[in-house]
Amino acid sequence: MTAQLIDGNALSRQLRADVTARVTALKARGITPGLAVILVGENAASQVYVRNKVKACEDTGMHSVLERWPATMTEAALLARVDALNADPTIHGILVQLPLPAHIEAQKVIEAISPAKDVDGFHIASAGALMTGMPGFWPCTPYGCMKMLESIGYELKGKHAVVIGRSNIVGKPMALMLLQQNATVTICHSGTPDLKAMTLQADVIVAAVGKRNVLTADMVRPGAVVIDVGMNRNDEGKLCGDVDFEGVRQVAGWITPVPGGVGPMTITMLMVNTLESAERLVA
Ligand code: NAP
Repeated sequence: MTAQLIDGNALSRQLRADVTARVTALKARGITPGLAVILVGENAASQVYVRNKVKACEDTGMHSVLERWPATMTEAALLARVDALNADPTIHGILVQLPLPAHIEAQKVIEAISPAKDVDGFHIASAGALMTGMPGFWPCTPYGCMKMLESIGYELKGKHAVVIGRSNIVGKPMALMLLQQNATVTICHSGTPDLKAMTLQADVIVAAVGKRNVLTADMVRPGAVVIDVGMNRNDEGKLCGDVDFEGVRQVAGWITPVPGGVGPMTITMLMVNTLESAERLVA
């Protein structure tokens, strides 16, 4: 068996076309959705991420502001910028690119963002809303994974989902979203003694670890859906995921590639969250 691909680029194009249409409709009512992205320091990967986010805003007709600050920026100065953007009526979403320099407490900065503009979904109020099933912003990466499952018409009710990784931005919210759709969910982490014993029971596997080949073909039940969140570099320096793609695709029913899988979906869901933040003003 060779798995079918879940193409994150194609799905993103489709979802971004819908976002663009909704942005146009909102603009006709006098509101242009706006995203502010704050980058502190010179982290090379972060530079690429923020560029892609700003470009996605431009492509969908949204307003965007990119603030670049030196790594020497103080925590107080950053908090002041967040406060100013909280009060700015042209901004509907605020994103502080992580990681921040070591002298700045990231969680403190995230908690300073108004929950109404927390389009990354990292604020404790957003996490609490997801936990309790209340309306709020969902973190973009797991939200994108859910959209990928939805795109193949996958019914999660009654299925066993295994999430590998328990970070606050991917693994834990992913598990909660799957649970909300009535999957039975197992969360694995670095202390899980026999990962293979867990993944072999899974109908759906989400790998969010940050290590190559965490999931190999012998760990996957035939026909399972495999979502690869990981972003790593192989020996040739090329982008790859956590999953041994060539091996696992021989066993799985569906699989997401890296690149071209979860990555573009993350940015797409950021656009969706920003748009929906602005739409709430006229709802
Ligand atoms: P993270 O905070 O480092 O969390 C990694 C998780 O993996 C931790 O919970 C860790 O367990 C677990 N883990 C480590 N080694 C393991 C092992 N051998 N077996 C099972 N679990 C293991 O990373 P993250 O922020 O969640 O990101 C995960 C990956 O996704 C990274 O490659 C990141 O670059 C990528 N990512 C991609 C996107 C995208 O848009 N495509 C977005 C976000 C992140 P402990 O908790 O026990 O330490």
